[in-house]
Amino acid sequence: MRQLLLALASATMLAGAAQAATVYPLDRATILVGSPFDFKVEFDAVVKPEDVKVTVNGQDYEAVFGRKAEFVAEEKGEEDKVLGSALILRDLTIAAAGEYKIEVSAGSEAKSVAWDVYETIAQPKAKNIIFMIADGLSVAHRTGARIMSKGMTEGKANGRLAMDDIPPVAFIGTSSTHSIATDSANTASAYMTGHKSRVNALGVYADRTPDSLDDPKVETIAEALRRTTKKSVGIVTTAEVEDATPAALVSHTRKRADKAEIVGMMLDVKPDVLFGGGSAYFLGKDVPGSKRKDDKDYIAEFKNAGYALAIDKTELAAAAGANDEKLLGLFHTGNMDVTLDREFLKKGTVDKFPNQPGLVDMTKAALDKLSKNPEGFFLMVEAASVDKMSHPLDWDRALVETIEFDKAVAVAREFADKNPDTLIVVTGDHTHGVSIIGTVDDEKPGTEMREKVGTYDNAGFPNYEDKDGDGYPDRVDVSRRLFIAANNGPDHYETFRPKLDGPFVPAVQNEAKEYIANEAYKDVPGAVFVQGNIPKDEDSGVHAVDDIVLQAAGPGSEGFRGYMEQSDVYRVLADTFALGTAKD
Ligand SMILES: [Zn+2]
Repeated sequence: MRQLLLALASATMLAGAAQAATVYPLDRATILVGSPFDFKVEFDAVVKPEDVKVTVNGQDYEAVFGRKAEFVAEEKGEEDKVLGSALILRDLTIAAAGEYKIEVSAGSEAKSVAWDVYETIAQPKAKNIIFMIADGLSVAHRTGARIMSKGMTEGKANGRLAMDDIPPVAFIGTSSTHSIATDSANTASAYMTGHKSRVNALGVYADRTPDSLDDPKVETIAEALRRTTKKSVGIVTTAEVEDATPAALVSHTRKRADKAEIVGMMLDVKPDVLFGGGSAYFLGKDVPGSKRKDDKDYIAEFKNAGYALAIDKTELAAAAGANDEKLLGLFHTGNMDVTLDREFLKKGTVDKFPNQPGLVDMTKAALDKLSKNPEGFFLMVEAASVDKMSHPLDWDRALVETIEFDKAVAVAREFADKNPDTLIVVTGDHTHGVSIIGTVDDEKPGTEMREKVGTYDNAGFPNYEDKDGDGYPDRVDVSRRLFIAANNGPDHYETFRPKLDGPFVPAVQNEAKEYIANEAYKDVPGAVFVQGNIPKDEDSGVHAVDDIVLQAAGPGSEGFRGYMEQSDVYRVLADTFALGTAKD
């Protein structure tokens, strides 16, 4: 009997694996009432159109959706390999909230999914939302920033970060539709669309065809705001403006690397404020430094669309107060320099871009601009380099970035104090595998740096100082400093010291295309070799799967609680702005 059951079970599983169609949006999708999305069914086999049956809550789909889907007899994959038939219905909207059960069948394939189509409250709870993301923000970044910035005496912090007074209200699960691990594209996209997707995907479900721009779309928050409100939209980042997190507000692509196309998607939605780096994707291929493959001049296109342009801190300050035009601020060809280099060490590319604004300047300018709209605004502010410096295990730079992020949070809080109809959200998009485990003390005896690591009672307290009271440590290379360790990484040398000559490059590629420890750090006195523990094609530390902490204050913040999927954060935002009031 047992054997028979096992045989039956395995036969059923085999049949199931080979014969399940895929339906997008996926099972358990949550969809805002009235929000356009693409419906797609992928059959594993080539099927006949007359055999395809699609019902919605038991009725034929055409009667419910009001339109007929396009039937694709043969979808093609790489090298023209036939993948099967497909059914596509673009720009579908559902006007009534409720549970929608979609049942699909053709030949031997069948699939059933359920969608939760939700409406929001009728009256907005808040006029403005400021959504602050420190990319990669883990608990260690917060703790380290507090100790470095404020100091600690007898076990109690000598001061509080601006974010310390915003209640932590939820743990956010960041996993993607295909993997427990994730990247900034699908995590930011989950926040900004309400749909989880696959690593590298923005504003789409990841379908099976190779074209990155044909995947089933979902609406972004900026599009929803344009469709349903007269609010302004602001995007501020220290990365390229085409990078995953800022792109998540406007983009639809399976591939976050489609940065040239993402500039066009920005222009489609026209954020009222768009600040960051990434100007290399705005100018045609013949302009030196351009990263485009065509001749498009997006600087001209944005200007034609009514934008003023600022390219440094001085121009930003002048433009922010000036008029009611939209404002494009492009302060670097690539990612902007980090605070430690920009303000203190003058390393990185600061010699080429000496007058870059910081996140605080950009946040202030954005709020000046956006708050002129009596209808309110949605502003996303990203401290991108908390992540970008955590990847190469450059913890001093990552912590100073976290301090800068916190100063931007202070600016947001100040705004909300004067404008209490503002919801502030402070969070990361995913975490890194990092912890603070003690200190490194140069005064400890011996020559081996490893013996100078203080753990438990021997850690004591670091001796950072902030004599000028700017919130940043006067120097990061003090004699007793934080010891921060990653739980993963490539082969590298641990130097136990801040990298004063520029961001850490832990590993370099060899002829076999494997990342090996960068010998440049081998002879730093006391450096130790650290064996990597991830595949050799990884050049840096990777994201962690751990939950992230979400903090929120102001009207609407009561919607965040307990454990939440990243995509469910969108529903709270939509509710706060009443973006999905059901129509009769
Ligand atoms: Zn990252």
